[in-house]
Parts: sequence; structure tokens; C-alpha cells
Amino acid sequence: MRYSKMLIPTVKEAPAEAISPSHVLLLRGGYIRKLGAGIYNYLPLGHRVLSKVARIVREEMNRAGAQEVLMPAVLPAELWQETGRWDAFGDVLLRFKDRKGTDFCLGPTHEEIITDMVRREVRSYRQLPVNLYQIQTKFRDEARPRGGLLRTREFLMKDAYSFDVDDEGAARSFAQMREAYERIFTRCGLTFRIVSADSGAMGGSMSAEFQILAETGEDAIVACDSCDYAANVEVAQVALPQRPAAPATLAPLKKVPTPGKRTIEEVSTFLGVAPQKMLKTLIYVAGQRVVTVVVRGDHEVNEVKLARALGMSEVFLATDADVVRATGAPVGFAGPVGMKTEVYADQAVQAVFDGVTGANEAGAHYTGVNPGRDFAPRWADLRSAGEGDPCPRCSGHYKAYRGIEGGHIFILGTHYSAKMKATYLDAAGVEKPIVMGCYGIGVSRIVAAAIEQHHDADGIRWPLAIAPFEVLVTSVGASAEVRAASTEIYEALSGDGFEVLWDDREERPGVKFKDADLIGIPIRVTVGERGLKEGVIEVKRRDQKEAARVTRSEAVALVAQMVRRERG
Ligand SMILES: [Zn+2]
Repeated sequence: MRYSKMLIPTVKEAPAEAISPSHVLLLRGGYIRKLGAGIYNYLPLGHRVLSKVARIVREEMNRAGAQEVLMPAVLPAELWQETGRWDAFGDVLLRFKDRKGTDFCLGPTHEEIITDMVRREVRSYRQLPVNLYQIQTKFRDEARPRGGLLRTREFLMKDAYSFDVDDEGAARSFAQMREAYERIFTRCGLTFRIVSADSGAMGGSMSAEFQILAETGEDAIVACDSCDYAANVEVAQVALPQRPAAPATLAPLKKVPTPGKRTIEEVSTFLGVAPQKMLKTLIYVAGQRVVTVVVRGDHEVNEVKLARALGMSEVFLATDADVVRATGAPVGFAGPVGMKTEVYADQAVQAVFDGVTGANEAGAHYTGVNPGRDFAPRWADLRSAGEGDPCPRCSGHYKAYRGIEGGHIFILGTHYSAKMKATYLDAAGVEKPIVMGCYGIGVSRIVAAAIEQHHDADGIRWPLAIAPFEVLVTSVGASAEVRAASTEIYEALSGDGFEVLWDDREERPGVKFKDADLIGIPIRVTVGERGLKEGVIEVKRRDQKEAARVTRSEAVALVAQMVRRERG
């Protein structure tokens, strides 16, 4: 393809609303243009990348035995009403009426539609399992679309749905999809972690997120440095630390005056005690219960974990009045010693000896506090995981990352099939609900996430497999010799099946190099007058500073070798 014939409208500046690197670079590189809030046009380069991601997804889904279908974007309300999601989806569902006054919506996902399709066609266990997928446009009326293609209202998604006779079958389908997803994200050239979306405490392996690692990602995750356990920090388990041996003699419990010192920082400075030796004490309200929660002074309570430990759906930090009522002291002096409420402590507190905590009395703290001796809490994992925490599955430790959710797979069980009466007859002729799983990939989001992971100050650095072109031939100078050499290389590479963009524009070299870095094609071949005089052509990777200088005859073979190696 000749650059001069292609619509690649690069610009120097992106609009001020574009903040994330992928948003800025997709706009500046002429890949996309905004049509409205959270809806975008894909220009030729953008469409090429989107199509390549979709092709990889399609190949791997087919390889895993899934069959492609296509469902409508405009969906009748009645199916959504069967499951109650017509109302439950809230404002995210864009609803409208047709000319006859019948209710419709734009599809944000397709569980109802696919379940309806399958219940009409599948009768017998002999027709199962089946896995059906589509690559199709979704619409979710998000209140705050942002980040360009990272969070749009309209987006391209691959959604697959598996149908099995029982839980074991569903688990097999899930495992196949997990493997397919690993291949997809690997082939797209992405560094990712498979993350437990829940705690893993209750068969949580049946739900997993594929997180594309990027400093700009919305999600905070931790991953073990020696096994493959990874989880959202909100739910990541923290292993019980080895309890160090207690010192030979423990200090006696002693009340000390701390007038006006309330925060961990104030008390630790005033008493000259490290925050790790402080027992931070917070009062929570959970339904009718008032609960005292103790964590190490340098840790924070994770309310999701606390609620789970208490068997409640949510917990609230007590009001100042509740704190006074529970402790008999003003806020800032709470402690677990002598506390009348239930007391829970994070397991890291087990390793604190001779600690410091509030004395439930204005202007006073205790020193020499020892859990077990001075108070008897119920132990639980109550804090968010962080860098360096011990892994619950092995002897490794967590590293902290930020990620962008690129895919999510989970077992649905019979949630939809029971509500919508999607059943089959088993070998004994007994009617049973079909067991389902669903598997999503944000195809357009992957385009943006790839850039968040692969860019520098000058532009995009596409992984080769999803780059709009594999090779960019840049002609520098307008001489007949440059044109002849460029044509020769362009035609040789194109003829061998490589995807080549030839920058044949009559532009200054500086402009061409800037555009080349911005649009980010992985391999650049520079054909210039000066080089040709010495019989030299430059071959440079976008992610490397130095160019290889090779002869005209070597250039094509070198490029072919580089591309083939990265195609995988
Ligand atoms: Zn581990």
C-alpha cells in the first residue's frame, strides 16, 4: 500500500480531553476519530488493527472448537424481561420503540439471545456440548465513557457461550476457553496475567479475568513472583505469615499518657514507636453488630474482606457517636484491650509483640500490648494485599501491577437456562437445564490496551501481529534511484506476502520519520540517496534505537527473517 494513496491523517496535537496514551496516539496517528461521546470511527489504519485482533480471536476460537454465529444488535425487550434484566440493567441499557410501539434495546451482551437460540434448537444431550461465539458490536450507555477505546459506549466484542450437560462438562469448556484466551493474548504480543476475580476460596477458579499489564491500567492486581496465582488486590488472599517466636520476656501492659495524640503518626512519633508496632483499631457497624477491627499500624482494613469474614454483604465505618458509645472515649483512643464488642484482628497482628494501642480513655494509650495475652480476637485476613506479601499458594511473594481487563471468562451454571427453560433430555429421557459458561473479549479495548503497554514518547510501538502493517518502506529523497530501489524492495516484500506500507510521499525526511514513529509500524526500511551511494539500506525496528545497515540485496532477506520470527 502506498502512503500517498492512503487516508492517514496524522496530527501534531490531540484534543485536551485525550489523556491516556492510547487515546492520544490513536487520534494523533489518524487511527480513529470521535463521532460522539464514547463512539468512534475507525479510519483505515485503525480498521486494519481492529481486524487483525479480530482475526486472531476468530482463529483461536475456531481452533478451540467454538462455532461462529452472528446475532442482531437490536434486541426485543421480551427476552430481557424473561430474566428480569430489562429493568435490572438500569440506564446502561439503551431502550427504544419501533414504529409499532414495541420495546427494543441495543445489545450490551447476548446471554438472553443465545439462550433463546439454543432452547429452540437443542433437545437432546446428543447435541451437547456446543460453544457458540460472535464478534459483534455492543452498546452500553456508560455515564462516563473515557480513555478513547479503553471505555466506550459502542465497542467490538467477542462473546462466546458454552452449553453443557453438567458441571463437569462446563468445567471442561471453561478450561478450553482459558487456554484459547492464553493463546489469543500471547499472539497479540501482550504481557498479561490471569487473575482470579474472586477470592478463590470457593472454587473461584471458575471465573478469571485476563489483565493486560500497563502502568495506566484501572485495576490494581498482585501476582505471585513464583507461581501463577494472581488476583485483584481487593480479593487477593494474603498467606498467614510465619509467627516469629515471642521474645523471652514480654513487656507488661502499661497505660501511658498521650494527650491529644490520636493518629497512628502522632502516637508513633510521640512514643517513638514504629507504625508496624502499633495496633490500629477501627470500629465498624455491620447490620446490628458493632465490631472492633485491629490491623497493623502500617496496614489498611479491606472492607470487602471484612464483610466476608463477618458473613455480611457490607460494612460501614462507625460514626463518631458510635465510636464514643462503643469505647467510652473520644475518637482516636480506641483499642482492643477490654473492648466489649466483638474483636477481629488481621492475621499480620499475630506477629506484633509489645505493641501500642489506644486505652479506650481520652489521652491514653497502652504499651506492651500482646495479642493472645491482653486481648483475644478472632483472626482473619482483613487487609488488601500488596507488594511483598506472601503468596497463599506457595512460598513466593506478591508483586504489584496495574492492569486493563481485556477478557473475562466464567461459568454461569443454570442461571439463565433455568429462568428461560433452556433444557435437554438426558440419556434416560429426563429433562434437565443446560449448564452454561460465557467468555468475553473486548476486541476494540485490546487495540487500546496494546498501545498502553507498547508506546514511547514518539508514538506507538505495535506488536507485529496486530500492527496495521508489518513493514514501512520510507523513501528519503526524490531521485530516480531512490524510487527504483524503493519500488524494488516494496514489490519484493509485498510479493512474498508481507504487509508493506511504502511512504512514497513528497515530504521532508523529518516529517516522514516523525509519522513513522507515531504510527508505530514495527520494522522500517529506509531508502535514501546518501545510503544508496554507499550501497547501503537501513533496517530499523521501531523499538530499537540503532538501525542495521545492509546491502540492497540483503535488505529483503533480513526483513523477511525478522517478520517471520515475530509472526510466531
Ligand atoms: Zn505463589
